Amino acid sequence: MNIFELMSEHDYEQVIYFSDNETGLKGITVIHNTVLGPSLGGARLWNYESEEEALRDCLRLARGMTYKSACAGLNLGGGKTVLIGDANTVKSEAYFRAFGRYINGMGGRYITAEDVNTSTKDMNYIHMETNHVVGLEGKSGNPSPFTALGAFYGIKATLKHKFDNDEISDYSYAIQGVGQTGFNLVKLLVEHKAQKILYTDINQKNIEQVKEAYPELEFVEPEKFFGSDVDVLVPCALGGVLNDESIPQITAKCIAGTSNNVLLDEKKHAQMLRDKDILIAPDFVINAGGVINVYHEIQGYRKDAVISEVKLIYDRLLEIYQIADEQDITTLQAAKVFAKNRINSIKNVKVKYNEPR
Ligand code: NAD
Repeated sequence: MNIFELMSEHDYEQVIYFSDNETGLKGITVIHNTVLGPSLGGARLWNYESEEEALRDCLRLARGMTYKSACAGLNLGGGKTVLIGDANTVKSEAYFRAFGRYINGMGGRYITAEDVNTSTKDMNYIHMETNHVVGLEGKSGNPSPFTALGAFYGIKATLKHKFDNDEISDYSYAIQGVGQTGFNLVKLLVEHKAQKILYTDINQKNIEQVKEAYPELEFVEPEKFFGSDVDVLVPCALGGVLNDESIPQITAKCIAGTSNNVLLDEKKHAQMLRDKDILIAPDFVINAGGVINVYHEIQGYRKDAVISEVKLIYDRLLEIYQIADEQDITTLQAAKVFAKNRINSIKNVKVKYNEPR
């Protein structure tokens, strides 16, 4: 493995390894791009099979954060941390405080947040050693309602582009996963009088929650989800669900939901959907409500400002769909073009000397 080669392939700025024998802390922080602002990305704790696997995951996730924040219109760059270890045994106050001291040493170039196997409580330990952490208890709170709100506006933009009409009540929807984001989306779709809503899940408790709140909605078996006879599929569960097996079953014209990494193979499956004339909202654009919410912790949190910014996902998606049409590319490729355009244009603004703020 040649780390510099990996870094130069996608223009990474910095890779930082850190280790602390006392606490068992072992991790990597990748800073992909800081043109727009400090890099922000969660700290994922995972028992990776090898250091190479950990590094590759961190590189991929950090770059994803650059695109996500750039498309969300935030003044943030992309970064990520992977902590290598078994979440059941390594976690302790000392472990996260040791990590916090390393983050502090990065001088604000990287801001951390919670991710897989790390929690708000862990962020509070990190905060004892550094201010470069968001997602703290009593601050911006649970991001899921904002992620759902962003996805709601994303669905509207997708309808607008596909049918030139974004009236929620004129269409039918099938939602995969009625957990934190999916249930909030169901609420919004019901409030806006969606024509028909189907839903599926594998968690009985979450299914019961929908049954109780909205007995009129129809449950569909998980394996029948992709063939649902609706206008919009709304994936709000796991990644990789759009693949060789599921795509041929789809009759819906639009896909727009909160799921991360929803395409199993980004290139191949985005193209398969395009060939079937199915419009998909790029996941990292439509599900950016959560990162917008947490960003406002840095700015001085105001809920009304968060909501206004989350609603802009509508306009950004329309721009991205237009790029895809004009350049004859997938919407996923178009989102990356949109992100790179914003980074490059701001880079040019920053070349002129100005007094530091
Ligand atoms: P969640 O765990 O609260 O809900 C996911 C739901 O999907 C659960 O009810 C689960 O039982 C269900 N599910 C899992 N596999 C399924 C299957 N095969 N068929 C049907 N249902 C299935 O998670 P969430 O926070 O709502 O996140 C959903 C997706 O959105 C994830 O991909 C997540 O990474 C992404 N996302 C979430 C946020 C956020 O703010 N929570 C932000 C950005 C992206």
